[in-house]
Parts: sequence; C-alpha cells; structure tokens
Amino acid sequence: MTNSLDAPDVEALAKLIVDEGVVQHVDLNRVRFIRSFNARFRSYARIFGLSRPIREALKTNVCYVVEVNAELFDGLPSAEKIRVVIHELTHIPNGCNGSLRSHRSRSFRTNTHRKARVLAVKLAGSKLDDLNPT
Ligand SMILES: [Zn+2]
Repeated sequence: MTNSLDAPDVEALAKLIVDEGVVQHVDLNRVRFIRSFNARFRSYARIFGLSRPIREALKTNVCYVVEVNAELFDGLPSAEKIRVVIHELTHIPNGCNGSLRSHRSRSFRTNTHRKARVLAVKLAGSKLDDLNPT
C-alpha cells in the first residue's frame, strides 16, 4: 500500500531554490510537498495542480502538490535532487492557478537544466547536508 508523509526536506530544498532566484514566480505557501513510499509511479517526482473548484470544495489555498517517490528520490545525490525539484517547480505557471506548464513550454527548453546545474554546483556539499532526510 502507498503511504505518504509530509516532506519538509523537499520543501526546504524548494525554498532554497526560490531564495536563490532559480525559480522566482512560485509562492511556496501554496505548494505542499509529500513523500510517498511504495509508490506505483516510476519517476523521481510528480506534481499535481488543484483547480479553483477543487480548492473551493476543500477550502484550501493550496494550488500544487509535489510528490516525491521515496524509493527513487531519496537515494539521489543532492545535485540531482535539486534538478528534480527545479523541474517540478518549473511546471507551475505564473499565477499559480492550478494548471501546469507542459514539457514543450519555453521555460523548460531555456532555463531548467542550465540553472539547475549552476545551483547544484554552488550548493553541493554546503547547505544541502542539512536537508537530507534523517
Ligand atoms: Zn515534468
């Protein structure tokens, strides 16, 4: 059975990415991060958008949920974790309206991997050591 827990370490990573200006348009107060165990999906992470009717029905301000796959994500080197989290945050468009940018959008083609590499090099081995799950 799949089990999910809050993922404060992934949230901290996202905060670092936003604070460093790699992803600037995302309001992290409206994004939740969870870690799933025994997940059925085969990627490191995925993101879900909550559309307005869903937010109203659930009485939540949360627009996005980023889910990491514990078995695949947790063993990654820090630089790869950064790349994965940047990738998921890049799916969020301006305005955080619950929709998702596709992989064909300009943001993916121009920014993601170059910025991820720069940040990964800058941060590797420093602040990241505090962010690994215990
Ligand atoms: Zn993607």
